[in-house]
Amino acid sequence: MIQKRPLRMTRQRRIILDELKKVKSHPTADQVYEMVRRRLPKISLATVYRNLDILSGAGVILKIESGGTQRRYDGDTSDHSHIRCVRCNRVGDVFVSPVHVPAVDESQACGFTVLGHRVEFYGVCPECAREKKSSRA
Ligand SMILES: [Zn+2]
Ligand SMILES: [Zn+2]
Repeated sequence: MIQKRPLRMTRQRRIILDELKKVKSHPTADQVYEMVRRRLPKISLATVYRNLDILSGAGVILKIESGGTQRRYDGDTSDHSHIRCVRCNRVGDVFVSPVHVPAVDESQACGFTVLGHRVEFYGVCPECAREKKSSRA
């Protein structure tokens, strides 16, 4: 597990956390910036980035990293996985118990020290599925 660091809750962090908890859209840092700016007009994008890093480092929010796409953030830290739309990159929640992955040691991983693993589902979101159907008609 990731080591949780003690966290000092500044006003900026509280507002960032608050905004993130309101949505289920798994926003990117840029989108979080747009949301937070309505309440903190003077905040900079760099500050939002830094605070998102600190909040996810402390385990207060989740950082969702997936290959090649922009990092996204989740205010819901309960045990869940994610599904990404292959068409529009929208990220949704998948509420299943964690998938069992066998322990891997260095000799099985080309000498890499294994820190963790990621399970990501992918598919087509309802909006994109609907679009495909209507364009066919
Ligand atoms: Zn989609
Ligand atoms: Zn989520």
